[in-house]
Amino acid sequence: MLRSVFRCLRTNLVAGQRNMSQSSLSGKVAIVTASTDGIGLAAAQALGKRGAHVVVSSRRQANVDKAVALLQSQSIQVTGTTCNVGKREDREKLVQMTLDRCGAIDILVSNAAVNPFFGNIMDSTEEVWDKILDVNVKSAFLMTKLVAPHIEKRGGGNVIFVSSVAGYQPMQALGPYSVSKTALLGLTRALAPELAQSNIRVNCVAPGIIKTRFSSALWQNEGIVDEFKKQLCIKRVGEPEEIGSVIAFLCSEEASYITGETITVTGGINCRL
Ligand code: NAP
Repeated sequence: MLRSVFRCLRTNLVAGQRNMSQSSLSGKVAIVTASTDGIGLAAAQALGKRGAHVVVSSRRQANVDKAVALLQSQSIQVTGTTCNVGKREDREKLVQMTLDRCGAIDILVSNAAVNPFFGNIMDSTEEVWDKILDVNVKSAFLMTKLVAPHIEKRGGGNVIFVSSVAGYQPMQALGPYSVSKTALLGLTRALAPELAQSNIRVNCVAPGIIKTRFSSALWQNEGIVDEFKKQLCIKRVGEPEEIGSVIAFLCSEEASYITGETITVTGGINCRL
């Protein structure tokens, strides 16, 4: 009896050690775009807590400084810079600065998105579409194109896109934004086979309603939240950390056989089979 208990303990200890090393991102360098607040910041925290050196950025220097100070206070290795992902020179500066300061790139989390338009999709203008597609879709691809050769030099790594439940089921009054999020599902599938040849896994997360500034118009309105709760299995709005941890999982060795996949993290919204 005692012997079998010891055997069980020993087995679990070994399994536990293996799991720890598989989820560790020690020695990895991760660029997370739009990472001074909300889901991007939570992703940087989750990757940093697992040992990665995280490179945080967003448009405003004051936000970058605040995020860097917060992550440093949590003993996370962090570098910060401004980067508007819609601008080519900013994207190039972000990648070059990462290489100069950290010497390598292993992970890209492409998280930035904008939504300058609410209303009937037929009222949306060319300018709205240009802005949404530039920031939400094109920059995700162009950042991937910039980092992929450097990730390949490391023997492989990960690219993660942040889509939305709206990518599966367009949200009312958010037509162009929803379409841009559907495009990321396609981008994930289109890139995965090509980048697998360089040992780069490409995956995507599709959050439901998460408590951030971006979605405050939704979760601060009790009527809207009550309506959403009817669609949720878990009857609450999600927290950014609940997306960050899934992103970190996808970047870890624990997810070594997952690519071209989108994980919905929605509290159980019925958005696909
Ligand atoms: P958030 O809390 O409002 O944070 C947005 C971040 O993006 C800030 O750090 C902001 O900083 C930065 N940013 C905005 N425009 C940028 C640009 N052009 N270039 C670089 N950085 C930029 O937003 P969030 O809710 O975490 O959203 C993050 C991602 O999750 C987005 O892709 C969004 O579509 C997706 N998502 C969110 C929800 C939700 O319910 N919250 C649901 C589904 C999907 P600066 O102002 O300093 O630039």
